[in-house]
Amino acid sequence: MNKQHPVSRRSVLKTGGTAALAVGAGSLLTRPASAEDGETTGYDAIVIGAGFAGATAARDLKDKGLRPLVLEARDRVGGRVYSSDYDGVAIERGGAWLHPNYHRTYAEIQRYGLTTVVDAPVQQVIYPRNGTYAPVDPVATSQRVGELLGRVFEGSRDYFPRPNEPLYRADLLKSVDPLSLADRLKALNLSSDDRSLIHGQLATYSGGDAANGGLTALAQWWALCDWSADGWNKMTAARISTGATSLVKAMLSGVDIRLNSPVASVTDSGGKVRVVTKSGQAFSAPVAVVAVPVNIWRTIQFNPGLPAVFASATTEGVGVRPHAAKMWLRVAGVTTRLAAQGEAGDPIASLVTHGTFSNGDALMIALNGPGLNVSDRASVDAALKRIVPTARVISMKVQDWVNETYTQGGWGMRRPGQMLRQLPAIHQPHGRITFATGDMPNGWIGSFEGAIETGNRAANQAAALI
Ligand SMILES: Cc1cc2nc3c(=O)[nH]c(=O)nc-3n(C[C@H](O)[C@H](O)[C@H](O)COP(=O)(O)OP(=O)(O)OC[C@H]3O[C@@H](n4cnc5c(N)ncnc54)[C@H](O)[C@@H]3O)c2cc1C
Repeated sequence: MNKQHPVSRRSVLKTGGTAALAVGAGSLLTRPASAEDGETTGYDAIVIGAGFAGATAARDLKDKGLRPLVLEARDRVGGRVYSSDYDGVAIERGGAWLHPNYHRTYAEIQRYGLTTVVDAPVQQVIYPRNGTYAPVDPVATSQRVGELLGRVFEGSRDYFPRPNEPLYRADLLKSVDPLSLADRLKALNLSSDDRSLIHGQLATYSGGDAANGGLTALAQWWALCDWSADGWNKMTAARISTGATSLVKAMLSGVDIRLNSPVASVTDSGGKVRVVTKSGQAFSAPVAVVAVPVNIWRTIQFNPGLPAVFASATTEGVGVRPHAAKMWLRVAGVTTRLAAQGEAGDPIASLVTHGTFSNGDALMIALNGPGLNVSDRASVDAALKRIVPTARVISMKVQDWVNETYTQGGWGMRRPGQMLRQLPAIHQPHGRITFATGDMPNGWIGSFEGAIETGNRAANQAAALI
């Protein structure tokens, strides 16, 4: 119980008001919340955002016998998880893959009776060489890339001895946390061949420029991957067979949710939290869980204003920028299942064949790099031809997460210095408001696993405040 704000739990709901949609269960509310002076009340918590973090928080609150209402800005649930289809083939326009060490995610998959699927192995690997691209020996190259990554993250067994408790050796982090991946790469003084094997990957994860990525952000991934190249290569080990959105929907089953409800302001008056949408609809509850991306906090009016650590996080950004567009390409002229790593600074950052259409066209996934007009097929085609000269882009489906109103960035990836500046203060509630997002976990940043971790925490914090 929170001693500062002694509010009794509103377990008895009133009738009347607007019915909300219960997704998954596909039913309308049997006990609609009431409207008092135009303000909807009767819920124990308002959860803002229906991505993995918000779905987890709402589901956990429901499991505790509480009644959450989810307000979601978009006309769909999932957020940076967006299972869709492309000419009849199932695709993921956002997050897709699971690492075997995603223990929380696998527990959810099991709870809801879902299954996973493994992608077919690639047959050809292409890397940059002397300003152009060439196929390489996959086994030897993978081994060399692993060795080089091991050098980049050397010392991480010492500074991250417990990968899910990043501050366990905060004393050792002081010298490494301020470094960018570009700083680390420079210090290693690699040959140009070795550098071109890993620079592109480090830049891709950083949103296009390795100077934006914190060394400790990826070093923690390395630690979470058992400090090994084998573990690292398992980051794309499996996907959810029915699409990642199916897990979010399963978690939200039976939870009241209002789509198309972007939140404009969140006001904590001490006894309750009042949440107002852009269209002026007002809701109040004893607590609110803010489960939108860190980059979005700055677009919401918080009263009182956010503490300094939150304010600087949202100003600096944690969701990667400026390049995080996931492009699905229907391509003629590619017959092998290939994977290519772009050179840092090149318009295509990475490329992989995902499958084949019935007429033989390849279905490929690419991430963008600097200078690519992702809405122009001719530009994408020209960039692709630099890597695979025989390729021809027939059509494409692009999700540019950086330019999405309700995301404004890609996956979470701490910038240099952000870990020590943010943790653990950014995990604390702000009055009666708690926070959840895969952009700020203790463990896997920029992942489903991290989003679920923070959703679990935010629900516990919220329940303690009621
Ligand atoms: C291209 C890409 C590839 C990725 N690949 C992987 C991967 O392979 N594996 C992996 O584990 N992770 C991956 N990730 C990361 C993963 O998708 C995210 O970490 C995770 O989905 C974040 O969940 P979240 O709930 O924190 O945020 P989000 O999914 O962004 O959910 C936030 C929700 O809040 C809503 N919202 C925003 N503003 C408002 C508002 N004002 N009012 C109401 N609602 C609002 C949004 O619409 C959204 O639904 C990837 C991400 C991207 C972008």
